[in-house]
Amino acid sequence: MFLSIKGLAKSFDKLEVLRDINLEIEKGKVLTIIGPSGSGKTTLLRCLNALEHPNKGIFTFDDGLIMDFENKMSKNTWLKLRRKSGMVFQSYNLFPHKTVLENVTEGPIIVQKRDKNEVRGTAEQLLEKVGLKDKQDLYPYQLSGGQQQRVGIARALALKPDLMLFDEPTSALDPELVGEVLSVIKELANEGWTMVIVTHEIQFARQVSDEVIFMDGGYIIEQGSPEEVLTSPREERTQQFLQRILNPA
Ligand code: ADP
Ligand code: MG
Repeated sequence: MFLSIKGLAKSFDKLEVLRDINLEIEKGKVLTIIGPSGSGKTTLLRCLNALEHPNKGIFTFDDGLIMDFENKMSKNTWLKLRRKSGMVFQSYNLFPHKTVLENVTEGPIIVQKRDKNEVRGTAEQLLEKVGLKDKQDLYPYQLSGGQQQRVGIARALALKPDLMLFDEPTSALDPELVGEVLSVIKELANEGWTMVIVTHEIQFARQVSDEVIFMDGGYIIEQGSPEEVLTSPREERTQQFLQRILNPA
């Protein structure tokens, strides 16, 4: 197991966004999160990436790192958490004034202080992998949304994370550009990356997931194989949610 999450809770002032999340993330497996807007999906990913500080809960990683959020932790411990994962955002979040290549190399060189030549070599390989080697000197505004999101994926991979987090990676894209991004993510799944993916693409979730969770109101309502959760959900809330997104009025 890569990570065990016990009793995770997060509030913003009085708003309880994550209430009692218990979850295991298996090494080399793809976990998909579905659920209505406002259910806490993004907040959960942000807690995994140390972008939010949980109020309660315990993370236990396979390398021995344990974080109990009721205790005060050192900056170094938070940094360890941050470095475990790479995040791909819904809105790409690329640096607009940097080229494609610079977007991919910036984090590894500036934040991780890695060797420039090594990073550049790695970045070029990653851009090749996402099909953008010939675009490396262009700027984000010169690319389509699908291309920008593939840069976003290469940028996260360049940090050599143990875990890849995807927050609705295709929901800002025109429908005809969704496939090119999903196929890159499928390739990563086949390569054995450990991934957590928030998505509304149910067909894709069926194909790529080892496990699916349905969240609502800050809780995990249902959890199981893609077959169990997406095809024959037991909980009424899951059934209603799937009805709504599979048959929009
Ligand atoms: P989802 O990704 O499932 O749509 P989010 O995790 O983004 O849900 O948000 C869950 C709830 O937390 C929402 O009600 C949202 O408005 C609230 N929320 C998220 N981030 C913040 C924040 N930084 N400050 C206050 N409220 C927030
Ligand atoms: Mg969200």
